[in-house]
Amino acid sequence: MLDYIVYEDFRAEVRAKAEETIAPHAAAIDADDHIPEGVMADVSKAGWFGATAPVEYGGLGWDTVRYAIMVEEASRASGSVGVMLAVQGSLMIYPLEKYGTDKQIKEYMPQFASGEVMGSFGLTEPSAGSDAGNTKTTAVLDGDEWVINGQKCFITNTKRDWPTVNFATVRTDPDKAKGVHGVSSIIVPSDAPGFNYGRKENKMGLRGSDTSEIFFEDCRVPKENLLGELNEGFKLFMVALDAGRISIGAMALGLGQAALELAVKHAETRVQFGKPIGTKQAIQFKIAEMATKIRAARFLVYSAGALKDAGRPYTKEAAMAKYYASQVGREVAYDAIQIHGGLGYDKSYPVERIYRDVKLDEIGEGTSEIQKVVIARNILNIQKKKK
Ligand SMILES: Cc1cc2nc3c(=O)[nH]c(=O)nc-3n(C[C@H](O)[C@H](O)[C@H](O)COP(=O)(O)OP(=O)(O)OC[C@H]3O[C@@H](n4cnc5c(N)ncnc54)[C@H](O)[C@@H]3O)c2cc1C
Repeated sequence: MLDYIVYEDFRAEVRAKAEETIAPHAAAIDADDHIPEGVMADVSKAGWFGATAPVEYGGLGWDTVRYAIMVEEASRASGSVGVMLAVQGSLMIYPLEKYGTDKQIKEYMPQFASGEVMGSFGLTEPSAGSDAGNTKTTAVLDGDEWVINGQKCFITNTKRDWPTVNFATVRTDPDKAKGVHGVSSIIVPSDAPGFNYGRKENKMGLRGSDTSEIFFEDCRVPKENLLGELNEGFKLFMVALDAGRISIGAMALGLGQAALELAVKHAETRVQFGKPIGTKQAIQFKIAEMATKIRAARFLVYSAGALKDAGRPYTKEAAMAKYYASQVGREVAYDAIQIHGGLGYDKSYPVERIYRDVKLDEIGEGTSEIQKVVIARNILNIQKKKK
């Protein structure tokens, strides 16, 4: 049985670092829509951009459970920093290590691991959201170069004041009947000719994390920038998302944990009717439910990570972890606001930021509805009938 208590010394170290270097900036990160360079430098110094990257490429070589704890603790300090690390680790470093050529790994892994380059994962398009395989962006070979045309939207880690590299899904087989089997994955640096940012999304939460449209206008990259096999890119993206869902679960866990701790503190100190409100059973029951749900979510997230580390199938368990932890994170943040009363509705108290931040976890990397589709598909033994 997985007992995460064995990781508690590790957590204490990571938490101390996040409390020292990230948490003091969390309110400003949200208010200014920006992660300051000092925080980026501290995260880089801690090695967290490359938590799971191999040591030989400048990474820390951590297993998935340790990585999840780091994302959880970074998110407990700031959701914007947590999501940045979740994308860099799960959606960039993991598929690069699994599918990249030696040359690609040598070139990009050290850059991702140090945070010198921010990685972004370009799957979503205006007509390809939950239906992520409905990719309209195309890539056509012209001599030794791919020429890419199309648009992505809602792409995280599109940090404009930073060098970025986008992994994008592109249709490489024009035969529509091939569906997702005509989609490839391609590496597109932000300085490639024809790569342009569009609108920066004006988000409800995670305001310090950059989320933007990307336009490819006759964008050219070398032929060797194909990541993985030709026309197998959709599968590669789905494999990356399995890993990503563990880190989004971890992020929700960290935000929920922060909300719980704030609610407990408030319940112990806010006096009404002559006593702390925490003496009221209505508040106690809320706290008990919040803490129990967080603990259950934590087991789901870490056990999905442990399955991945053991090389066992974990698609269903990662979807369960993300689905449940994101719901719990949102519910706990909501209850934390209620326990704070009017103060919970005030921007100078962090629970309202946490509530805005954690809502993304029920949407990004596949909505909760899509997680349930994935879970059910992996339980029900129903084959698609051929027409
Ligand atoms: C802050 C933020 C960051 C993001 N970062 C990235 C990123 O880095 N890279 C990236 O590629 N994308 C990113 N996304 C996009 C995200 O993955 C999509 O928003 C998400 O997959 C849902 O797609 P959609 O918004 O088009 O919603 P839609 O697909 O239009 O869904 C609308 C509603 O319909 C429901 N629905 C749709 N299909 C079904 C179905 N078959 N069964 C049941 N219900 C269904 C959905 O659950 C949802 O409730 C980000 C989004 C946000 C908000």
